[in-house]
Formats: sequence, C-alpha cells, structure tokens
Amino acid sequence: MSDYEAVIGLEVHVQLKTKSKMFTDAPYYYGAEPNTLTNPVVLGMPGTLPVLNKEAIEKTIQVGLMLGCKIPEVSKWDRKHYFYPDMPKNYQISQYDQPLCEGGAVEIEMLSASRNVMGDHREIALTRIHLEEDVGKLTHTGEMSLVDYNRAGAPLIEIVTEPDIFSPDEAFAFLTALRNNLQFAGMSDCDMEKGQMRCDANVSVRPKGSEKLGTKVELKNLNSISGVRNGLEYEIKRQIHEVKAGGIITQETRRWDADQNMTYVMRTKEEAHDYRYFPCPDLMPIRISEEWKSSLGEALPELPFDRQRRYMEDLKLPYTVTSVLCPNRDLCEFFEAALAVHNNAKGIANILVNNLLSELSEASFGDDQKQLSDLPITPEGLAELIKLVDDAVISNQIAKEVFSEMIQTGKTAGVIVDEKGLKQSSDTGELEGICADMIDANPKAVEQFKAGQEKAINAIKGGVMKATQGKANPKLVDKILREMLS
Ligand code: ADP
Ligand code: MG
Repeated sequence: MSDYEAVIGLEVHVQLKTKSKMFTDAPYYYGAEPNTLTNPVVLGMPGTLPVLNKEAIEKTIQVGLMLGCKIPEVSKWDRKHYFYPDMPKNYQISQYDQPLCEGGAVEIEMLSASRNVMGDHREIALTRIHLEEDVGKLTHTGEMSLVDYNRAGAPLIEIVTEPDIFSPDEAFAFLTALRNNLQFAGMSDCDMEKGQMRCDANVSVRPKGSEKLGTKVELKNLNSISGVRNGLEYEIKRQIHEVKAGGIITQETRRWDADQNMTYVMRTKEEAHDYRYFPCPDLMPIRISEEWKSSLGEALPELPFDRQRRYMEDLKLPYTVTSVLCPNRDLCEFFEAALAVHNNAKGIANILVNNLLSELSEASFGDDQKQLSDLPITPEGLAELIKLVDDAVISNQIAKEVFSEMIQTGKTAGVIVDEKGLKQSSDTGELEGICADMIDANPKAVEQFKAGQEKAINAIKGGVMKATQGKANPKLVDKILREMLS
C-alpha cells in the first residue's frame, strides 16, 4: 500500500456532429481526401470573416444542460494566439473567460468486481465547457511534414474537469460515461481513433490525507480510453517513485508512448505558451435567453444511467442486460418500439443483447460496419417472434434459429416457422413415447433424480429436445417426465 494518492484532472476535446464547420459553411467529415474540405475562411485568407454556426452553439448548450452545467446569459469569443502550421490564421477562435457552460458533473460507474451487479456510482465535477474551432492535422514523415486542413475549423468543445478524479480507473470510467452520454444524445460519435474525442490528462501526487495539491504533470498523446488509463498508471508510479526518492516533480508536459509503455518530457513550464488571449473583434458575444435554453433542454433524451435505472426498476431487467442495452441509442429505440407491440421486456431485451449484437458484428468487417438499421429486421418483426415463444408456438431454442434466419432472409418469423415446420410439438401421445425412450436411455440421471437431485432431470429433457430437434414443448416435456418418474 502506498502512502501517496493521485489527483487527476482531464481536458477532453470533442468534435461536435454538425452539418458545417464552426465559422463557415464548409462541411467536415472524417476520411475525405486531404485538403478537400476547405475554403478561404478555413484557410485564414486575408479579408475573410467568421460566421457563427448556430447548430454548434445549440449542441454545446445541450451538452451543458445534459451535464447539469450553468449556462450564463452571455458568452463571448476570444482569440488564442500561437504560431504553428496546423493553424493558418495564427490564432484559434476559442472562449477564454466567458465560456458557454460552467460547472456541471458527469455521473460515473466504477464496475463491480464480478461485473454482474451494478457498481458504485458517483459524480465527477466539471469546471467548464467551451466551444472553439479545431485545427488542421500535421503528419511528420522523415524529412518533411504534411498538413491537412480538412479538420481545421470543425466545431470542437473542450470539457475541463476539476481535480476530482483519484485513480486511473476513475479516469477510464469518466471517459466511458462521457462518451456514452454524448453519443446517446447525438452530439458526437466520440471515436478516439478518428480524433473525434481526444484527452489530455493532468496528474499530481500527494501524501494521503493532505488537502494541498501537488505539482501537476500534463500527459499528451493518449489515443484511447485505455491509453489514458495506462498512461496515468505509469505516470503515477513514476511520480511516487520520484517523490519517495527525495526528488521533486517539475511542472511539465510529457508524452505517452504506448509502444514503450512510458512517458517522456515534451516541454517544461518555462516553454509554456503565452497565448495572448483577447476578445475576438470579428464576433459579437451571444446572449442566451431562458426560452432558447428550455427548448434545447426539452429536445434532450434521457441519460443512459437514468434509463438503466428505469429499465431495472420498472421493467425488472437484469443489470447485465441493461448495461449493454442502455448506452446504445439504436438498441434502446428498437427495444422500446418492440416492447410497445408485445409486452415482454426480458424476452425482447435478451435476444437484442445476446443475438442481435453478434449478428451485427458478424455482418460487419473492417470499414464496413453495419448498423441496426442495415439489417432487415423491424421492432414489429421481433415482437412477433417473441410472441410466438410466449404463445408456446415455438421454443426459445428454435426462436434463436428463427431470429438468425429472419436476419439472413428478411422473412417474418411466422413465415419461417411455417415453411420450416418449426412449430413445437404439443402432441402428448408422441412426446410420451419419446420421453419413455429417453428415460430408458438415461438410467443414471433417472437414479439421481429419484435420489433427490432435481437438476438430473435436465439431462433427460435435453435428450427429448434433441430427439425432436428442439420442437418439443419444454413445459409439456417437463410435466410428462415428472409424471413418469414419480
Ligand atoms: P493550466 O492553466 O495549466 O491549463 P488549469 O488550472 O487550467 O491548468 O487546469 C487544467 C486541468 O488540470 C484541469 O482539468 C484541472 O482540474 C487539472 N489540475 C489542475 N491542477 C492540478 C493538480 N495539481 N493535480 C492534478 N490535476 C490538476
Ligand atoms: Mg487550462
């Protein structure tokens, strides 16, 4: 046990999903040919002027409302200066002292050790969220550097936390919850591999019980949520080792090298930028009315954790099922639409979580990632299938086969069951014959069952199901077997 504890604050940049860039009508999307999504405003040509993107402002306010931030009445724009080829204007339009959102919090879940029950929840405090423009992307190749301005000017929010995170696992939980919230609300796709979400981590250590913050180090180049966790784990160990050896921590920026699994110095405090912030003379401050705010709030969906609690309490769904279902908006909408047709939450949720997701990943390959809407299955179609099970027309086992067939062929459950003759047999006479055969074939299980081992009956039942290719009505088989064995 170490007598030091870590204190962590995160700065997270997220690209908003909007039709056009922050200050001009050029679009931005990932994967276009380099330098095709530009125009004179993006390239910072003399004489061009920025025009505000209302959709980006509205989405930022919505992110703030979702996370319980205060939205001030007035928010303004500032120029942040630095000279670097990823930014042709030599300044970035950002927000300094009057951001769009102040305070707020993100609810996190620390997963339980077993993963089968809900873990501990707590809130991590935010400092602020501001809106700015993204910069271009530099690629350094041996002797030259290449620049792509596609990303330049894309709407980017920066979410800054208080130093309120105390372990790499909490940082992991924070980023997971933040991503789930933003994705669910359609604010961003938050794909870290595509640079849609990027995180810098500030970390210091202090003796346990101390209130005073230690000197912080900023970590950069953390390219995935687990990268953030790994980088922090290394850096915390390094700092504790340093302090215990009598050394001091210098305020600096360090780069995480995932291949070598270590951090190294990029720049020290003396080299820190002086951004010479001043109000942007090209843009008016924005005034945010109560009406505007409340109409934006009304359009927001329920947050994933709130939905999860509701599904567990009202629909009695197990934690493991809701933890897969609830962060995924497509699945939730599909689930609720099916539930409106046939009221069996467990039956519908189980097939979505256990079968649909694997069908989706089977249909996807590399860049060809399939969405739920790409599959020829509707909520009504799934409801019909579950109803067939509930009406004892087909067994659960057969339902899985039918479901897979529905996805392959687009046919309805009813048609597949008819065509393939999958209706379960409730023909008592026929089943009695098969049950008797299986009792003869499993003398050991029979003996165990008679000796009080309740579960031994499953082996015999399994034999009957196999002999009937899953078509026997399991409840009827159970009844017949128990009568024969008593
Ligand atoms: P800077 O001016 O260097 O950008 P800020 O005060 O703006 O520093 O904080 C940036 C981030 O660093 C925030 O997320 C904040 O919570 C975090 N932070 C600040 N001080 C510490 C510290 N001593 N230890 C860990 N994190 C810190
Ligand atoms: Mg700062």
